[in-house]
Order: sequence, then structure tokens, then C-alpha cells
Amino acid sequence: MPTPALPDSSPGRGIFCNRTLNLRSVRAIGYDMDYTLVDYRVEAFERMVYAQARARLAAEGWPMEGLDFDGSMVTRGLVIDTELGNLVKANRFGFVKRAMHGTRMLDFKEQRDAYAQTLVDLSEPRWVFLNTLFSLSEGCLYAQAVDLLDRGALPRPFEYASLYRHVRSGVDAQHMEGHLKAEIAAAPERYVVQDPEAALALLDQKAAGKKLLLITNSEWSFTSKMMSHAYDRHLPEGMTWRQLFDVVIVAARKPAFFVEQGPFFEVVDESGLLRPLMGPLKAGGIYLGGSAPQVERDLGIAGDELLYVGDHMFGDVHVSKRTLSWRTALVLRELEAEVAALEGYRPTELRLMALMREKEALEAHLSQARLALQRLHAGYGPAAQGDAATAEARVHGLRGQLLALDAEIGPLAQAGGELTNARWGLLTRAGNDKSHLTRQIERYADVYTSRVSNFLHATPYAYFRSPRGSLPHDPVGTATGA
Ligand code: IMP
Ligand code: MG
Repeated sequence: MPTPALPDSSPGRGIFCNRTLNLRSVRAIGYDMDYTLVDYRVEAFERMVYAQARARLAAEGWPMEGLDFDGSMVTRGLVIDTELGNLVKANRFGFVKRAMHGTRMLDFKEQRDAYAQTLVDLSEPRWVFLNTLFSLSEGCLYAQAVDLLDRGALPRPFEYASLYRHVRSGVDAQHMEGHLKAEIAAAPERYVVQDPEAALALLDQKAAGKKLLLITNSEWSFTSKMMSHAYDRHLPEGMTWRQLFDVVIVAARKPAFFVEQGPFFEVVDESGLLRPLMGPLKAGGIYLGGSAPQVERDLGIAGDELLYVGDHMFGDVHVSKRTLSWRTALVLRELEAEVAALEGYRPTELRLMALMREKEALEAHLSQARLALQRLHAGYGPAAQGDAATAEARVHGLRGQLLALDAEIGPLAQAGGELTNARWGLLTRAGNDKSHLTRQIERYADVYTSRVSNFLHATPYAYFRSPRGSLPHDPVGTATGA
């Protein structure tokens, strides 16, 4: 009998594993909502947040005419340097590899002058990490605000740090006040991407005996509208999203939810009426606030039996892993474009690798030739073959070959550095190395994937194994699987 075709198995739809995770031993799966269970059109969503925050600043007398949201100006994983008014991309060690002041990219020398002595350390208040796709409007608006400040165009003085706080509070207010959510709830089809497979993935998990939890920072009314819009039409007749979940927790205040012992309230009707929760969480209940330790206690589930799936690098994944040792999955929507770009670049990359090997060999020859010349001039060491003029000609010849090779390598490497975003390149890479975002993903996310529906393809019985991982001293040609 032929094996039935597997669902979409394009490389970007995989579930990528940092630490081995056996779904069979996971008893409960908790889901974040925004940008996890509900996928938004980033450009439309962020453009609206931006427009509302811009209007607020304009009302304070800021000259905002002509400024617009630019979805390519910043990416998730960049870091705002609130001291210098910059956005930077750092590698896994915290070294700054690219930087932008206001909306202008710094050249190599400017970047070196600013950061040669400075490592990005996210525990310092100077740095603000762009954790989620919700961060894009804020990053773009801050970069433009720095330009305005530098031009002396703002109605009152700011430092770069207080400017950041002001922009932040402008963006924050849009999420907290009602307009944004009202607008989205009024026309959800404009903002929400439908993914019918996500509903089936959740049905599979539930039927496989997993408890499903929804833990979101969004309020009840918004959660209910979004979940209903994104899920109800893809569920069996007569079923709604509510029946998918054992427990729904709204306004959870992550990351505090994972570290503090906040009280739970019960949401007792559709209008969101609340009463304090007496006793344990009950199956089918809707709750507000609360804390993760109580979820573990009331459900009788240990941290390592609970997988939490979210898109916020810090609030969903870092904190739940660090404080409670929950199993974690990061949803990184950009991954599909990232993997497609890497695939498209693969022939160029192979060519580049071959040229780099040639370059390394030439460099080794050049080092030997220079040393031979040095010994000849200084009159020490083993007897040299040939005279100084021959040795000089050899050095000169090798330098010429290297220059020619560099001219060939340069454009290929540059194209690699501009994949998916001309300013910042791939999210997961910084130059040849891993990016700061990747470092956090490997530390805190047991697995990562582009969207929830990829769990459909994996099934609730999947066993994700971490790759062996490569090290610089591995023998050349070793199959590392990394
Ligand atoms: P979750 O991802 O389901 O936990 O929900 C994220 C919630 O946080 C959404 O309701 C967003 O509107 C909200 N949110 C995103 N960014 C901000 C912010 O900067 N300030 C306040 N709320 C935010
Ligand atoms: Mg989210």
C-alpha cells in the first residue's frame, strides 16, 4: 500500500529542535494568542499602531508630516541603544555587527568608533531588545524620532533615552487604549491571516489526550473575538474555539505571570464580568490574571510536562524556561522567508565557500612567503631557496591573486548579508556567526517553528531530537547534522 503523502513539508515549515523534546511525554500544551494562535498581517497591524502613535505625537506638536511606517526599516531581534539613539544588530557574543543612527546606517568606521569597547548586554537598561513583531512600529518610530531630535525639530528637549521612553509610552498607549483593538475587532479579516490547519493541529492534540491552555496578555473581549474569527469556521459543526481549551487565561500579565503569585479572577459572562476565584481552576473555565505556579498546582502538571508555545522571545519563552523550566516553543513567523532565502542563496553560498577555501590556501602561502622574505632580510633560519628579489616577487604575486579573489568574493558575500532585508540581513545570522536572537532561541526555546500549524505535520506523537551540533575543531567533513 503506498504511504499517504505527508502534509506540506517545505523546509521552512519544519519544527527545529535545540533540545530533545518528546511530545508523547508532554501532558499539557499552553498557547499564547497574538502572533501565535492568531497570525496577523504584520504590515497592516503595525502600520495602524504606528499611525495612531504618530497622531498622538503630532498632537503634542511633533512635526510628523511625511513620516510613514517602513516595515523594512527594523526587524525582530535588533536592539535599541537608548544611550546613542541607535538600532544595532549584535552577534551571539553581543558584538555589534551593524548599526543605524536614526534612520541612517553607520559605516564601518563609525560603527567601530561607537562600539569597539561596548558589548550588548540585555540586562542593562541601556538596551531594548525587539522581542516580537509588535516591536516593529516602535523601532521605526524611534529611529525617525532620533532624526527629528538631531535636526532640533522637537518642541522640547530630550536625551536619546528619554526620547525612547516617550516613543515607547506612545506605542504602549495604543495597545492599552481601546481604539486599536476596536478597529481590529471591527474588521478582523483585514488583519488576521486564516490558517485552517492550526485548528486541526489543536484538535489532534486534544484528541491525543493533551490538556490545552490558552494564556494570553490580551483582554477577554478581544481574545474572544479574535479566537472566534480565527478558529470557529475551521472546527467541526457546532464546535467553537472554547471547547478546544481546558483553561483559558486572559490578561495574564506575562512575564509577571511566570514569576509572581498574582490572584486569579473568574470571567463569569461574555461581557467580561469578574469575580475572585475561590478554590482551584476548573476545566472549561475562563480566568483573568493569575500565575503559572498555580496552573501547575491546580492541573497537577510538572513544569517539564508542560509545553508553552509563544512568539515573544522574552515574555513567553525566556521567562517560562528560566523560572519554571517549562518546555518551550518559539513561533518565529519570519522563518519561512528566512529558510526560502537561504535555499535560494545556496548555489552562491557553495561558490563562496569554494572561493574562501581558495583564499585560505593563498593566505597560508602568502604567510609562508612573507616569513621566508623576513628571514632572508634578517639572515636567520634555514637556508632559503632563491634570492630576496625572487621572494619579493612571490609575495607580490600572491598579494595580487588575493586581491583578485577578494573582488570576486565581495559581491557574493554582500548578497549573503542582504538576504531578506537589505539593511539588516537574516534574522538568525550576524555576519558569519549566529545573531543575538539566535543565541536566545537556542538558550530558551527547546524548539522553534514558523507557525502553530506546523505541529499538524509533526503530529502529537513526534519526537524532536536535537542535532549533534558542530564545533570548530570537528574533523573536516564530519557529519554533524548541524
Ligand atoms: P499575547 O501575545 O497573546 O500574550 O498578547 C499580546 C498582547 O499584548 C496584545 O493584546 C497586544 O496588543 C499587547 N501588546 C503588544 N505590545 C504591547 C505594548 O507595547 N504595550 C502594551 N501591550 C502590548
Ligand atoms: Mg504573542
